[in-house]
Amino acid sequence: MSPESDPRPESTLTRLLHADRRAGVEQGAVHKPMHPAATFSYRTAAELVAVFQGRQPGYVYARQGNPTGAALEAKLALMEGARASAVFATGMAAIGGLMLALLRGGDHMVASRHLFGNTPSLLGTLAGLGLEVTYVDAADAANVAAALRPNTRLVFTETVANPGTQVADLAGIGALCRDRGLVYVVDNTMTTPELFRPRDVGASLIVHSLTKGIAGHGHAMGGAVVDTGLYDWSTYPNVAEAYRQGDPVGWGLVQIRKKGLRDFGATLRAEDAHRIATGAETLGLRMQAACANALGLAQWLQAQPQVARVHYPGLGSHPQHERARALFGGRYGALLSFELQPGLDTLAMLDRLQVAILSSHLSDTRTLAIPVAQTIFWEMGPQRRAEMGIADGLVRLSVGIEPLADLQADFARALKG
Ligand SMILES: *Cc1c(COP(=O)(O)O)cnc(C)c1O
Repeated sequence: MSPESDPRPESTLTRLLHADRRAGVEQGAVHKPMHPAATFSYRTAAELVAVFQGRQPGYVYARQGNPTGAALEAKLALMEGARASAVFATGMAAIGGLMLALLRGGDHMVASRHLFGNTPSLLGTLAGLGLEVTYVDAADAANVAAALRPNTRLVFTETVANPGTQVADLAGIGALCRDRGLVYVVDNTMTTPELFRPRDVGASLIVHSLTKGIAGHGHAMGGAVVDTGLYDWSTYPNVAEAYRQGDPVGWGLVQIRKKGLRDFGATLRAEDAHRIATGAETLGLRMQAACANALGLAQWLQAQPQVARVHYPGLGSHPQHERARALFGGRYGALLSFELQPGLDTLAMLDRLQVAILSSHLSDTRTLAIPVAQTIFWEMGPQRRAEMGIADGLVRLSVGIEPLADLQADFARALKG
């Protein structure tokens, strides 16, 4: 039945859970099989040529993709309400592939000042190749507008920043990019399509670290670039002549595939695509539990005498609380951070945790804790940390799906000393 004639269209979740089976897997398997093949064969030379020239769908050499990855790509597009996607070996590979494909020396881009630490490190590498980057406080679209130049091509932000939990002016930046014809890239790793679909605020492209919430089990790495279909690539100067074929809505992602996968080689393995797709089936259930836990733990931590400050968008005291509530449907994510009162030993407190794991990584089923200034933000030095508002005693928590009472008991024990 077409969506028009069906009075009650099927939910995204049902479509996700049944996507492989309905696409016709051999022997009625309910999961797309793993296809680790490096190459694919054709019966006739004409077919091989047609696939190479993009006139017929198919696979040629697995660096550009494999059927297991393609099944995951279809699911990600479904989850994001988007047109299509391309999967990569890691989240950083997806961001790197996108930047490499779309930007040239002499171009300018505007990025949020509060990005996942490895992204500015990558942008620093690209700056060495002639890219101009301006960092702004993305909590207000006016800061982005003030940074635009005639050679600005792209604006890049995350939804909820790590570890400070600042919420970007996602709708305001979307309106600005639409008016100025700029490519608007939103890293939706922290919110996932369960809380927020960047297409709703006019994003052109969405980036994911699939390693995090979408997989959820910490058992595979992956990344994705999702194309919302909203950007008119016929107006974008950096699309090569070879990819200006057919409907312009597809040009951007074709170039990202060719440059980011074929040339860069950051391809997602079939085994990992399979593990990530299995994890994605429970994203909704996990986010429900983790967001409720994070809100409960944030409120509880705020009331403890040893805790000086808690950063969580679900708290009324958070500067973008109202924005987060409006954008994310009354849930606020699994990430929070907090600082102990001056003089208390943060590292000793962390050593007393028995449930929460001392670990990097985010949006796992298990609760994870890390002192950020000494670890993920160490390399950038004290001055840059101060600019980013990262105190030496700041602890980041990625809240898992354990019962809240177990988490409170764990932190109560650790705080008491
Ligand atoms: C982890 C992360 C990335 C990088 O993803 P990997 O899969 O670790 O390469 C990018 N963006 C955000 C917001 C992340 O949290």
